[in-house]
Amino acid sequence: MIGNFKNTDITAANVFHGIRVVLSMIEFDIGTRIPLESGGELEILRTVGDGGQGTVYKTAYSSREYALKWYKPEYLKDLEDKGILRKFRDNISENVKNGPPSDKFIWPLMLTADHEGGFGYLMALKPDNYQDFTDIFNTHDKYGKKVEFRDLKAAVNSALNIVEAFKVLHRSGYTYLDLNDGNFFINTQNGDVLVCDNDNATSQPIFNIGKPGYMAPELVRCDKGVNSSALTDYHSLAVVLFKLLIRHDPLMGKNYVKSVCISAEKERELYGVNPVFIFDPHDDSNRPVFNIHANPINLWPLYPMYIQSAFVRSFSEGMKQPGKRLTEYEWTKVLVKLRDEIITCACGAGMFLSGLDPHELIECPHCGHTYDYPKHIELEDFRISIFPGNEILNCHIHGGEDYKTVAGKVVRSRKDHARLGIKNWSARSWRIKYPDGEVEVVAPGKIAVSQLGMEIEFAPGVIAQVIE
Ligand SMILES: [Zn+2]
Repeated sequence: MIGNFKNTDITAANVFHGIRVVLSMIEFDIGTRIPLESGGELEILRTVGDGGQGTVYKTAYSSREYALKWYKPEYLKDLEDKGILRKFRDNISENVKNGPPSDKFIWPLMLTADHEGGFGYLMALKPDNYQDFTDIFNTHDKYGKKVEFRDLKAAVNSALNIVEAFKVLHRSGYTYLDLNDGNFFINTQNGDVLVCDNDNATSQPIFNIGKPGYMAPELVRCDKGVNSSALTDYHSLAVVLFKLLIRHDPLMGKNYVKSVCISAEKERELYGVNPVFIFDPHDDSNRPVFNIHANPINLWPLYPMYIQSAFVRSFSEGMKQPGKRLTEYEWTKVLVKLRDEIITCACGAGMFLSGLDPHELIECPHCGHTYDYPKHIELEDFRISIFPGNEILNCHIHGGEDYKTVAGKVVRSRKDHARLGIKNWSARSWRIKYPDGEVEVVAPGKIAVSQLGMEIEFAPGVIAQVIE
């Protein structure tokens, strides 16, 4: 027993600026008190999570509750062996000083003092209604409880919100050092995203660490002069989105299965030296394996061509040419497009229109209810299905990246259920021109009845048409 640690099994020890780095499995007892760098002490209340880098505890400090990420000795030892432990700690100190880029980041708030051979930092606790990305990916949490999105829209919203988080982080001058699926907490009801593990965000990418499956291949290979940057993050972003939508590792195919043992050297080969996208159109050597990789085989064909193309560009051309990787703006555009295609049955089941035959009735695969194939609002870059609940967003009308502000919504008539209309949620009146030439002004809060061939002027010069 060393101090308040339990289960101690000392296998090696090192000294880092006065800290004795102990290689062992350790866990703090409830009630353990740990001093903070800025003064005062926190108290351990219970363990709440365990990851590759550290253990997370619920703690109390100054009458409030916080999460404490306490680094595993083996992780600190690894950083020390690479000669970057001091820089790593200084980076967290810097992040604490600078504060978070937005309220979507669970940011380091305070560092602990060096204590019993290690250190950690305090951050806000994960709200109860958010789930770990890892649990969503695995479809269940560590207790075996099912974890899934409420509907398809919530899933696509979460993808958009992850892209948004990257954008905010990059615009604040940060990049990620070690991005992985443990970085995100997601509200499965609406797709809201919180970013955690922000000890890995840095404004001075002077060292590289990370998980090969998420790191850009040039970082895995340790190419000379290459540091983490927005371009390397674009690779990680594409990996996270692929895992979210296709539920699989984009490089885990035949080549991975063929490997008897996934050693560090093999990982370097699969993710750095010779990375092959499982759906690379010009190289089929690493295709998903039937009976082993069910998710990519079943899910990939359900996505429209522009989503497949986005991943192909990211993981085929973008693998060798970082400049070809999709930026946040490009991802936002294709993901908004994807969301526009979702129709949600009254039972809650969602479907992508792209996979359905426009000449046939749509039958909900969940409850069997049937619907007419919807008409569309055609804008210059977007096509929005006129289906109850679908939204017209600011980015549809004005371009740009504002996918959150709703300007209009498809609604069903209360008197005649078969009739659909578009409710003006914006602050501006719309000018409608019907096929017979009649013109109508739809004020904010009012509804334009949908009619084939009608034109809607959402803003001066932005004219959409209702088409089949
Ligand atoms: Zn249904």
